[in-house]
Amino acid sequence: MAPMPADRPRQNPPAALRLGIDREALAANWRTLDRLSGAACAGAAVKADAYGIGARIAVPLLWAAGCRDFFVTYVSEAAEIIDLVPPASISLLHGPLNPADAAWAREAGVRVVINSPEQAARWIEAGGGVCDVMVDSGINRLGLPMSAIGDAMLQQLDVDVLMSHLASADEDVASNAVQCSRWNEARRAVPHRRASLANSAGITLGADYHGDLTRPGLSLYGGIARAELASEIRPVARPMAAIMQVRHIAAGEGVGYNSKFIAPAAMQVGVIALGYADGYLRCWSSGKGAMLHGTRRLPVLGRVSMDMTVVDLTAAPELREGDWVEAEYDLVEGAKASGLSQYELLTLLGRRFAR
Ligand SMILES: *Cc1c(COP(=O)(O)O)cnc(C)c1O
Repeated sequence: MAPMPADRPRQNPPAALRLGIDREALAANWRTLDRLSGAACAGAAVKADAYGIGARIAVPLLWAAGCRDFFVTYVSEAAEIIDLVPPASISLLHGPLNPADAAWAREAGVRVVINSPEQAARWIEAGGGVCDVMVDSGINRLGLPMSAIGDAMLQQLDVDVLMSHLASADEDVASNAVQCSRWNEARRAVPHRRASLANSAGITLGADYHGDLTRPGLSLYGGIARAELASEIRPVARPMAAIMQVRHIAAGEGVGYNSKFIAPAAMQVGVIALGYADGYLRCWSSGKGAMLHGTRRLPVLGRVSMDMTVVDLTAAPELREGDWVEAEYDLVEGAKASGLSQYELLTLLGRRFAR
């Protein structure tokens, strides 16, 4: 057996790709959403690693900006940030899925969201304590059915946030007002301290939708949840990667798997350290995606591979190995071009990025 190396390097060399995070923009987006929430305070959905931005980066920034409520999905996500903010400011959206979750949340001092009579019983069984409640006002996904809001068991809960979730806040449809009135009905039936309905898009629907607390996610991280937010919200994430090799290819040569691009003439191309395993998907292949160097656009040639992408360097012939480029990643335009949602474009951004 080979011996273990005695001296391992103390620090890894810098990565060839990084996710540029505009920290000031993230804080500014929270302040904007808090202001647009009127009399309500804005919390923050930081589930899914803060939509790919990195929860351990986002949470302290949001706390410093004034945010006091953080919504995660799983116990593992709560554990990931529990040393950064007071545990009672963390709320577990999926609720206690089993007795172990309930015991963990009680011990950690994290709020659980009660989504069903079964979860309410599980929480009381575990000893109870401050919790949140999600009422399903029409999304038919997760939450207490409206038929259960009068249950005696709910009266035994110590409810901080009574919430519901809008299915179509990004559209002007009648169901928004229907959900709002059901949420108000639940507010009358279930004793609670604070009420919450709106996600990013819901914040723009007006004061009726604000309650005491709003729960933006997407627009904190630069997503334009509704057109009204386009002039208010700043981009946050910038995927960047280094050029690993500059190549000269002759007319008629193919680039990448299955030669989906054939050079029409001799050209200079750059091989970039960014691929679909990083969340830079194959939908950006030939003609769709591009890298940027300053204002110059370097179109993707052929297929995006797992760990690399080839771009046309015609517009920036002086670029060399080790130079950095930025992936064009405007969320609104990217969603149109790729057919993916802005949510997917953000949460895709992988773990290999240095952040
Ligand atoms: C994800 C989530 C949010 C945030 O929604 P955005 O559309 O990203 O603003 C708010 N509330 C709940 C319950 C969620 O699951």
